[in-house]
Amino acid sequence: MDKKTVRDLDVSGKKVLVRCDFNVPLDENKNITDKTRIIAALPTIKYLLERNAKVILCSHLGRPKGEFNMEYSLAPVAKELSNQLGFEVKLASDVTGDSAKSLAENLKEGEAILLENVRFDAREEKNEDSLSEELASLAEIYVNDAFGTCHRAHSSTAGVAKYLPSACGFLIEKELKNLGDALNNPQRPFVAILGGKKVSDKIGVIDNLLEKVDTLLIGGGMAYTFLKAMRYNIGNSICEEDKLELALSLIEKAKQKNVKMILPVDNKIGKELSEDCESKVVKSTEIPDGWQGLDIGPETIKLYENELRNAKTVLWNGPIGVFEFEQFAVGTKEIVKFLANLDDCTTIIGGGDSAAAVTKAGLSDKMTHISTGGGASLEFIEGKTLPGIDCIENK
Ligand code: AMP
Repeated sequence: MDKKTVRDLDVSGKKVLVRCDFNVPLDENKNITDKTRIIAALPTIKYLLERNAKVILCSHLGRPKGEFNMEYSLAPVAKELSNQLGFEVKLASDVTGDSAKSLAENLKEGEAILLENVRFDAREEKNEDSLSEELASLAEIYVNDAFGTCHRAHSSTAGVAKYLPSACGFLIEKELKNLGDALNNPQRPFVAILGGKKVSDKIGVIDNLLEKVDTLLIGGGMAYTFLKAMRYNIGNSICEEDKLELALSLIEKAKQKNVKMILPVDNKIGKELSEDCESKVVKSTEIPDGWQGLDIGPETIKLYENELRNAKTVLWNGPIGVFEFEQFAVGTKEIVKFLANLDDCTTIIGGGDSAAAVTKAGLSDKMTHISTGGGASLEFIEGKTLPGIDCIENK
């Protein structure tokens, strides 16, 4: 990696502003229901504390739309950080106001504080320089470790780097290494699995992957736009009519690049998009009117498994069925299990729903890497520049 990491800076005794991704899910009692993102931030925080830095943590949580709203307070995160670190992590009652300034000024070496939700300030998402400067004025060094928001150019994720010496944290380093190695230096065969709702969200991803992979397995809702483009009757399955031409051009590109592109040959179809609707399995050539494809069928699962069996690198993004409903989660679950049992294969799970499916199956530790950033990992796979990484000083 050509960007500086925390290892490249002398942080001892310095005030270090660390942008983390503490955008964790909360239940109605404000209990954190998945601590993954907090745990993932700890290596950088601990590294800094062990080197006697004065650590100023900041993050967004949810979408408070630029207004102070206690619904989105980072208080539950401050509590959990205190548990994890074994000392009290004080929460400022504002982002860069008097509370933040006073807590930052009084920080002692080896201590950490947390600023309140940075999206309480409307300037954050506009990447306004005035907020970047205010954030910078609290510290002497800026560290970005918020991989999940690296694809956003906001004051705390990018703008602030203009005003301070900067470096990436260990989480970003790990994400870039795993995703980067898989994409740019994969052990072959390299198989990608793409699912999710729409082709339009993943055009860039498919296009870039067709330059890299040996095999591309396409499932989920997006498969039906491809099937329709190939003149299959897809009934009421989700389809983007304005992307049929594009689907054909991607199929053509796969042929030109010698990439084996595999679409579902059978499907679990339902009468409607609901938990316990009437359902049955049919071949892709036999989807009747009035029904919609909501999961891949057993033959397709076998077909996918045949491709995955000898893979040396697998990259997966997007569920391959409506996995929120038990009866249409079979394909996604079977693929999770199959990947978990692969020996000698690097398995990279893009963030978001595919990561959730792996976690739900309790098989996270069987995967090589599960990305903490859905949107960010997709943009990275597309080959886009991520502003939150681009802004960091080169080595
Ligand atoms: P994405 O955010 O694009 O990765 O899409 C995830 C969503 O795609 C999930 O909520 C799934 O329920 C949905 N999905 C997966 N397969 C299908 C399908 N066959 N029809 C409709 N939605 C689907």
